[in-house]
Amino acid sequence: MRITHAYCVELDDVVTIDEARRAYLSTDPTPARYTFTCTDTGCRENKAVVSGVNYTFNAEDFPKRVEAHFRAISPEKHLATCEWRLASNADAADTPVEGESPEDVLERTAKRKLTDRITDFNPDRQAPRPDDDGEHLEGEEVRPVRPRADRPRPLDPDRVNPRTRTQDLERLVHSYREARAELSEAELRSLHINVAGVGRIRLIEYFRPLQYCDERTINRIINGGAHFDRDYGQGFRLKMIDRIKGLPVFLYVGADMMESYRYRKYVRDIVNRIPAHRNVRVYVNGVFRLAPNGKSWSLQLDHLRHLALVLGAKVEPAAAAPATEQPA
Ligand SMILES: [Zn+2]
Repeated sequence: MRITHAYCVELDDVVTIDEARRAYLSTDPTPARYTFTCTDTGCRENKAVVSGVNYTFNAEDFPKRVEAHFRAISPEKHLATCEWRLASNADAADTPVEGESPEDVLERTAKRKLTDRITDFNPDRQAPRPDDDGEHLEGEEVRPVRPRADRPRPLDPDRVNPRTRTQDLERLVHSYREARAELSEAELRSLHINVAGVGRIRLIEYFRPLQYCDERTINRIINGGAHFDRDYGQGFRLKMIDRIKGLPVFLYVGADMMESYRYRKYVRDIVNRIPAHRNVRVYVNGVFRLAPNGKSWSLQLDHLRHLALVLGAKVEPAAAAPATEQPA
């Protein structure tokens, strides 16, 4: 049973696993593990506990590491009307939908292999509102449509392909990483996403590796490996491993930007850990600017919600100087 949202007792809120992780790792001192139950109040009375997996530590780039997710411990405790049970029933009923092309069918079946199937992403490039972390916009999330109990609705396209909207870049990154890990090349290529301000685009084209980017790149999730470079008080600078036009690329986050971010402790902890890892994978919705001296590029972002960091594998003592990484 696929569950993307759960009620967190300690936070007294319905959260995604990424929201739970940011809240958990931003709390000082580190709290005991959270208790999650089903979002359905009826299931909650039935003691339908939900387990949070891999959310108590930062995302790491291990080939075998399972992305953080929710898992139903006792699926039988969920009511027949529970939204997650209804969604998984819809998954099982694999009726072809009228007007679907072979690629649509490939995309639909590929998505069923994913925990979190985001269909719509709003990067929210507008100026940040005060005290806003860019989440929980009204109407942001569309859950699987709940059918009316009194009559069957067999061919509602929203029921077969429910839309899942988010503004949370980390959530999108984790879904993308799961797709890359779990799907075949053809399945991965079939996935599309609706991006506000961009339109419908293949997911793998929305995520663009740094080496294929330049100063004209906009409205893409630029991604690449990086090393820790230096601190600027609470702020920091990362040096990307790949270069653009032969010049090094730096990502600078100033102390002011850190100070105004609700989850600064979460970000700071990841940055502090980078030296103990081979590198960090950077995902950023930003732009490139040539430094005034013309000797390097600056990869600029305007809010930390446009940045997601995934730590590389830990450096083993015997492999402190990995041969696979050329200094940039
Ligand atoms: Zn339930």
